[in-house]
Amino acid sequence: MNATSLLEVTAVRRVTPRTVRITFTGPGLDELEPWPDQQLKLLFPPPGRPVRLPAADNDVLRWYQAYLAIPAEERPVMRSYTVRARTRDTIDVDFVLHAGPAGPATAWAAQAAVGDVLGRYGPDAAYRRPLPAAETVLLAGDETALPAIATLLSEVDNAVVFVEVPDAAEEQPLPGNVRWLHRDGAEHGSRLLAAVREAALPAGAAAWLAGEASTVRALRRHLVGERGLAKGGIEFTGYWRRKLTQDDAPTAEDLADAAEKLEDSPACAGN
Ligand SMILES: Cc1cc2nc3c(=O)[nH]c(=O)nc-3n(C[C@H](O)[C@H](O)[C@H](O)COP(=O)(O)OP(=O)(O)OC[C@H]3O[C@@H](n4cnc5c(N)ncnc54)[C@H](O)[C@@H]3O)c2cc1C
Repeated sequence: MNATSLLEVTAVRRVTPRTVRITFTGPGLDELEPWPDQQLKLLFPPPGRPVRLPAADNDVLRWYQAYLAIPAEERPVMRSYTVRARTRDTIDVDFVLHAGPAGPATAWAAQAAVGDVLGRYGPDAAYRRPLPAAETVLLAGDETALPAIATLLSEVDNAVVFVEVPDAAEEQPLPGNVRWLHRDGAEHGSRLLAAVREAALPAGAAAWLAGEASTVRALRRHLVGERGLAKGGIEFTGYWRRKLTQDDAPTAEDLADAAEKLEDSPACAGN
């Protein structure tokens, strides 16, 4: 399967006031293996220019070097997203149109129309992160994690789910027993953290956490430090950072998280 290709928009619909679902078609999508929580990199063209794909094979490092070698004024902006749903040759991606200043991906999604073209790298099975095995799995995240949680829920029946969204209008139909938390103007992540603190979790539970990075960090600290969950039983990803773009350099806390993730990964276990 070609890991990189162009994607053409075939449909755009608002599924909630702040979520736009965009359907894409493109070469190679029909060869994608199915698995839940498929992450991909989307490449957004600079204003007024077509999207330019790196000329490289499927090796991720060579692909990234070729990406960086594109002259700055032609280089597409790269952002991470999740496949929300798919058919044989299309994928749907849900873009959150968040409050506050929009970055290039959000601005693009707000204006997207049928026929628009982006680039993609992935989804790449090498980055597949299966849910930790346990009798109960806590899934917790904000609206950006909703696409991943929706696909994970299609595969598990032992999940306790908490999703924080801006308000009731942002809820989406999901299978299973989902506890929706409405921010309603409260600080981002505060309702999620409070609900997880109060949740009954059996000893030996595992967790999957995603969303705003400082909230994910606080959730993980609580689960390990105060609830005794094993570090290796928590899969976590900071999806976005307050006041920072995805192009900004990692902070010291981001680097510490990345190092811990590597330590806890199955490949390193026992080393
Ligand atoms: C693996 C992975 C999967 C993801 N899947 C999805 C997905 O399916 N759908 C989705 O919508 N997002 C998803 N995200 C999050 C998305 O990549 C970020 O929100 C990204 O920053 C959006 O790019 P941008 O160009 O709009 O903003 P940037 O240029 O990165 O940031 C511009 C400004 O917007 C702020 N910002 C960014 N996102 C948010 C937000 N959600 N709420 C409030 N402020 C924000 C930043 O703090 C910054 O100040 C995922 C992230 C990862 C790492």
